[in-house]
Amino acid sequence: MAKTKPPVQKNQTIELKFEDLTHEGNGVGKVDGYPLFVPYGLPGERAEVKVVKVKKNFGFGKLMDVIEASGERVEPPCDVYYQCGGCQLQHMSYEMQLEMKQDQVKNALKKIAHLEDVPVHEAIGMTDPWRYRNKVQIPVGEKEDGQLMTGFYQKRSHNIIDMDTCLIQDEMNDRMVEAVRRIATDLGITAYDEENHRGVLRHIMVRTGQATKDIMIVLVTKTKKLPHKEALIDKIREAYPNVKSIVHNVNSAKTNVILGKETHVIYGDEYIYDTIGDIKFMISPKSFYQVNPSQTKKLYDQALKYADLRGGETVIDAYCGIGTISLFLSQKAKKVYGVEIVPEAVTDAKKNARLNKMDNAEFFVGEAEKLMPWWRNQGLKPDVIVVDPPRKGCEEDLLHAMADMEPERIVYVSCNPSTLARDLKILEDRGYATKEVQPVDMFPQTSHVECVAWLERKS
Ligand code: SAH
Repeated sequence: MAKTKPPVQKNQTIELKFEDLTHEGNGVGKVDGYPLFVPYGLPGERAEVKVVKVKKNFGFGKLMDVIEASGERVEPPCDVYYQCGGCQLQHMSYEMQLEMKQDQVKNALKKIAHLEDVPVHEAIGMTDPWRYRNKVQIPVGEKEDGQLMTGFYQKRSHNIIDMDTCLIQDEMNDRMVEAVRRIATDLGITAYDEENHRGVLRHIMVRTGQATKDIMIVLVTKTKKLPHKEALIDKIREAYPNVKSIVHNVNSAKTNVILGKETHVIYGDEYIYDTIGDIKFMISPKSFYQVNPSQTKKLYDQALKYADLRGGETVIDAYCGIGTISLFLSQKAKKVYGVEIVPEAVTDAKKNARLNKMDNAEFFVGEAEKLMPWWRNQGLKPDVIVVDPPRKGCEEDLLHAMADMEPERIVYVSCNPSTLARDLKILEDRGYATKEVQPVDMFPQTSHVECVAWLERKS
């Protein structure tokens, strides 16, 4: 067969009609059947596009001008939206974002697991889909005049965009970053420079307890010493007395990983607190804690609804983190077993159980894919199993061990529809029926999708 050449060339400008969206939120248009992916293009739109990359079976384009705009196109409120790599969907109405996320889950279920009949509900969104993030980790740089600046990296680069605000961040986080930047500039603290591996301040991290208004500030330095430490602490406390904890973290390595191993609490407590529903959580600098607490409540409520507990059940919560879902479950169950790979998170989970006077939850450090088969071999018979794995989904060993234990119900919380669909297929083959899936929008303005799936054992 004759080799077909792509119908477009690099740097060519063409008119394109977008028919579809990728899961990153890029518009897809075709030239003689050859697909071009174009960031910021919306289905239904006609646009002028410059071809920037040509591969054998597909290419990439840059949106130059929208000729016929979609009714779903909105003006992004953020000034740096088109430079920043943080958000992908600000040019899209929020209704369309929710629809896109629902479709993505539907498509993954259909294409990967052949589950076209499973109801996938409308994504549960936020009334005000802005200012939701309780945690910021922002790189520090220097302007020409020596003043410190903070901002996220430009897309596909490590150039810091000088910015004063991030519209998906809690306003308190913005204010804390601004205060630290100003105070550190006044004290003559330098920014870390990645290129020559010199300088001091690498990142400012802030965590806010949205329910408690507690604030934790983490200063990440390349140097072992934090210069002007006392003055820095005094000035931060003077400006914001509600700061409960200031932490110094040392990261001397040439790495993209933000936090280093060495952590010193230099003011206040090692923890801050937050509440979700009726449960209080202690949060330490390094532990995983959901970034959108008001949506987390909706996500956990949905998981609890699907678990349908009556009080007498034994439940396993795999990938339990600091025990958030476990403690939600233990309000309604007889016994909950949690497993998590990060030892510090398990320590936090145990403390959180005590803090909430819950004595029916027990936590274990380990790999879920090892502990689940071990529990099976010990003869444990859970009534319900909840899993909430990272993006890569569950290991097959874990899925088989789960099915072997024959729980009535499985509740699968997922941040990646593709691995969810892959795993549902295995569980379907092992005697479980997927009843429904509920997406919850945990990350408005970005292309991330979160959902909860409910499975029942076929009789
Ligand atoms: N359910 C929790 C945490 C979910 S995030 C919450 O809602 O807050 C996923 C968690 O899985 C993380 O805490 C991560 O440390 C943990 N993890 C990753 N791989 C694991 C494995 N193989 N076994 C057990 N836990 C793992």
